Amino acid sequence: MALSYKTCKYCGRIFQTSGANICPECLREMEDQFKLIKEYLYQHPRASVEEVSKDTEVDERLILHFLREGRLEMVAADGFLLCEKCGAPITSGRLCKKCSEELSHALGSALSKPQPAAGGAADAKKQKSAGGIKQDKLHVDIHIRK
Ligand SMILES: [Zn+2]
Ligand SMILES: [Zn+2]
Repeated sequence: MALSYKTCKYCGRIFQTSGANICPECLREMEDQFKLIKEYLYQHPRASVEEVSKDTEVDERLILHFLREGRLEMVAADGFLLCEKCGAPITSGRLCKKCSEELSHALGSALSKPQPAAGGAADAKKQKSAGGIKQDKLHVDIHIRK
């Protein structure tokens, strides 16, 4: 296996890797922080990202990273996490359902014609104006991929 040197995405240290962008020390630390978040959320199942970050002292950006990885999932798509393609609010991962379906179609069959773009504005309108959800509260819920 070819090893190369990379700069750690988090701490900026140079380390030897076979592909990862994060050094082993930061990875270990991230695991510890993930455990902290997990334990916190068992006790506070509907805590906001802000609360989790404040009480566990885990950086919000790291919580976002876990959301992107799909290791955490938000209870409601309230705008903290956005689809990387169309910008629709999502609860976990990188893409909304529509975009990830489009992507898997595109990957699955190169022959299929791309669907005409529906336009992001229509999507926003389709969203139910859920009365109870406050914009400033970012609820997260634990979701562990197996
Ligand atoms: Zn590091
Ligand atoms: Zn999307």
